[in-house]
Amino acid sequence: MKSILVRSLPVSLALISSLVFAGGCKRLVDKAVPPQLPPPQTGMAEQINPQLEISLDASLNDKEREYLKEDFRFAQSLKFKPETSPYFVTAFNSRAGEGILRFLDERIGHIIGPDTTVESRFSYTANTGNASNKAVTIATNIGTAVWLETIAQRRSINFFTNNTSLPVNDPRIGIIKLGRAYSVFDENNGRPLNTVARTSILVHEARHSDCTGGLADRDFLNLASGQLPENRSCGHLHTICTSGDYEGLPACDGKQWGAYALGWLFANEIVKNCENCTAAMRATAEAVALDSLARIPQELAREMRSGSLNQPDMSSTPPTN
Ligand SMILES: [Zn+2]
Repeated sequence: MKSILVRSLPVSLALISSLVFAGGCKRLVDKAVPPQLPPPQTGMAEQINPQLEISLDASLNDKEREYLKEDFRFAQSLKFKPETSPYFVTAFNSRAGEGILRFLDERIGHIIGPDTTVESRFSYTANTGNASNKAVTIATNIGTAVWLETIAQRRSINFFTNNTSLPVNDPRIGIIKLGRAYSVFDENNGRPLNTVARTSILVHEARHSDCTGGLADRDFLNLASGQLPENRSCGHLHTICTSGDYEGLPACDGKQWGAYALGWLFANEIVKNCENCTAAMRATAEAVALDSLARIPQELAREMRSGSLNQPDMSSTPPTN
């Protein structure tokens, strides 16, 4: 996953937006859009699976729906050995795929298609076009970026889907916008990502829906003045990488157990302890785990691997201010 660098400081909401976007893509800038009531006709959404609350927006095409359903079936099918890491058991509350499914279901509510404009789906956004045409966007957690914007703008914002209007009042609303690369990764030969890579991305995006530690008064003040919240674990915002292939890009975790760490935890456990995965699945998972590890501060990565890091805090505190 490549990302876009936004260097301008003091940081703006444009930066927040880029920090929750795995692929680097849309940026938020001030541009008032009047509320649209009643909600526009967005088409009917489809429930991904009768057991889950995740809804597939009308904007997703057949291929994207097929892949997403495959990915949730894959997540559900996973079985892990008794020696599975305690971190994994804490994060997913299980050694079985059902736990991963619940983790995703709690943090992903709506999945919308790549061609959907963000402006058309929110009663107010401050959105602009692609900041770079070089970035490959796989998926972005737009819900968290818009939720932070509700705080910064001190206004309520509604999300339009399924011909209705939903308030964005908690990052756990989990609005994920797929990038085209989710179903067509390589523009030249049309080679898609496989289900292991795609599911790892869903785990990463889902983690952005957690405001771990909540927002303090200082964070509200920061947001209102166009700064990032001090608590970067709220939304698990990306931070600028300080070394390696991603140096200078906002494509790294800043704090412990961020979105890349959860992606690592998921993929690494497939490599090490999956009971029912093929060699090909393990090979993809190994590549995902290595890439994720390179995006985690070295000290934290060492502690994660040695087992000396704290257990992950999987809570999310809704706003109280
Ligand atoms: Zn991310």
